[in-house]
Amino acid sequence: MLLLKFIKKHFTNSFNLIKSIAAGLFILISTVALSIFIMLNFQFIKKPLYKNINLATTDKIHWVDKTKIPSINRSVLDRIEYNHSHFISELNTVITEDAKIKNSITIENALIRDGKKIAYLTFDDGPSTTVTPKILSTLKKYNINATFFLIGQNINQNPQSKELVNNIYNDGNSIGNHTYTHNLKKLYPNNRIDVDYFMGEVDKTNYTLREVLGNNFRTRLLRLPGGYMSRSYYHDPNLTELNKRLKEENLFSVDWNAYDFDAEGKKKNSKELLQMVKTSVGNNPKVIILMHDTYGKEETANALPDIIEYLRSKNYEFKTLQ
Ligand SMILES: [Zn+2]
Repeated sequence: MLLLKFIKKHFTNSFNLIKSIAAGLFILISTVALSIFIMLNFQFIKKPLYKNINLATTDKIHWVDKTKIPSINRSVLDRIEYNHSHFISELNTVITEDAKIKNSITIENALIRDGKKIAYLTFDDGPSTTVTPKILSTLKKYNINATFFLIGQNINQNPQSKELVNNIYNDGNSIGNHTYTHNLKKLYPNNRIDVDYFMGEVDKTNYTLREVLGNNFRTRLLRLPGGYMSRSYYHDPNLTELNKRLKEENLFSVDWNAYDFDAEGKKKNSKELLQMVKTSVGNNPKVIILMHDTYGKEETANALPDIIEYLRSKNYEFKTLQ
């Protein structure tokens, strides 16, 4: 009894304190658990379209675009059209018609739904002395043309690379700008586009192109490394500034809505590349197909004849972008 009295007297306050601490901890743990639950759900909602992306790794940004799963082709197309509409509304410049470019359609009209089936073959990251010549020879053989988004430093790599740019151009293909270094860490530090630096690389590549093709050369076509859609996906806060600069300089960002998947995951053979084109093209009447003609993409060159024949069998016409 004495002991009980002693406890009551000296520990009642402590019991209350423990109760308060317990209640405090409970609230804290509940809040944390609820936050984690909300965050996980947020990720879960986004994940089906963009799985396998490590958001923290800038190196992976280039291949964020998992959007070519056929079921969401339509939304990708919408996004491309939307991206373009940014710039079309206030476009007031004369489009430089270049006599050399064959079978071209202006980027504003590229995806218009007019009942025609058109495939725009696009090759990124070149020129390379190993793959580009094979691509050019296949295009010639089938008497069609494509659009090449070139990296400035690859043009400057050696005299043969410069000669290849001349060949691309003289064969009637279209040429677009794909920055000078393609270095994602420099272009998108902390996953945000550094607009001044980015436009500096674009200018440098344009300068390089003019050195090779002559001072009159102009291109309105720009493909962002990783695609404009990856910047949108990351809600890049500097995109508004980029849009403004592109409009000022009359440049159009051109993404894609189909691809051969030749730059992602495990290396694929030409049959697998063809299959990826078939799957991503689906029944879409207007397709801008992303492929690569840089070093190591021999299988893309090997797949190209089959890709062209497949698209022809599906009644696609081949056009270049301008
Ligand atoms: Zn690229």
